Amino acid sequence: MDTDTKADARPASELARMDPHEALDLSIVVPVYEERDNLRPLHAEITAALDVLPYASEIVYVDDGSRDGSVDVLREIGERDARTRVVRFRRNFGQTAAMSAGFDYARGAVIITMDADLQNDPADIGMLMTKLAEGYDIVSGWRKNRQDGFVLRKLPSRLANRLICRITGVRLHDFGCTLKAYRREVVENIRLYGEMHRFIPALAHWIGADTTEMVVNHRARVWGRSKYGISRTIRVVLDLVTIAFLMNFATRPIQVFGRIGLASGFAGTVICGWLTIGKFVVPDSYSLLERMPMLLLGVLLIFVGVQFITMGLLGELMTRTYHEAQGKPIYVVREVISAAPPVDPA
Ligand code: UDP
Ligand code: MG
Repeated sequence: MDTDTKADARPASELARMDPHEALDLSIVVPVYEERDNLRPLHAEITAALDVLPYASEIVYVDDGSRDGSVDVLREIGERDARTRVVRFRRNFGQTAAMSAGFDYARGAVIITMDADLQNDPADIGMLMTKLAEGYDIVSGWRKNRQDGFVLRKLPSRLANRLICRITGVRLHDFGCTLKAYRREVVENIRLYGEMHRFIPALAHWIGADTTEMVVNHRARVWGRSKYGISRTIRVVLDLVTIAFLMNFATRPIQVFGRIGLASGFAGTVICGWLTIGKFVVPDSYSLLERMPMLLLGVLLIFVGVQFITMGLLGELMTRTYHEAQGKPIYVVREVISAAPPVDPA
């Protein structure tokens, strides 16, 4: 085992250049959060799938702050298999951050992501690679026969997918499927925040990537439990608002904020003007305000709503500025476990 920090005094970039496996065809990236019992069978399945393929490949596991002993299993796998690298986070940063770290540490020309819970089938790797070779930048898995509950998982997912498809203009059936193949250039040009890993095809579409989809195998979870509940739906919807904003207006926010501001300012002026005129023209009439306190409340609520949305979007922009201006990743690595020489991320 060696850690990327204390292994060698030479700069990391130089070490990366010395790495004998530098130019790889394929990296498998697996985010892992509390999947102890799945890891050994998963590694065996991925290894078996890679062994029959002609690609120089590696497996990058990103431990997202598991506390169930997953790290010990990964350490054992990482120390035995030189093709494997384990990136261990300091705490749970979320699946998006784990995938982002996987992209940074991966060296393959193609990167395939998959879940650690055995729900995705490593036997599909070859098929995705063949499809990608037809000239696509992203091949997205479609869990057509998804093995999850209907009401809490499949139904919200179906609605969300339709909505995402509509708003982003990217025609996919299953944005949420982790099993996807990406050309390295695509993920290198995408920055991920929040839970945006689901929207990589949408973000990639924006930079001009060609995306297609393929039906992939999906299996029921046997060990461990799902990390997400129904509350994910709300998070996905809010992320979608951000995506729609970023795709359409990020470079000219005044077009959005300005229009909303002009419209609400105009409406407010009309209402106040009407109230003022009413007061003077019919002096002893009740003012609209006295008769309709609900009006005041309504107007207030609309304004507050607009304020919150625009503040949220501004916040999204500022988050990106904050991270990108300072070169801060959205995760912090504790150590990198591997029998192979260290590699410089990104
Ligand atoms: N995961 C992660 N960090 C998290 C939550 C999940 O790395 O905070 C990983 C998890 O270990 C799994 C994948 O993301 O490999 C998908 O999670 P899960 O199977 O719980 O999602 P579901 O399949 O139920 O949508
Ligand atoms: Mg799962």
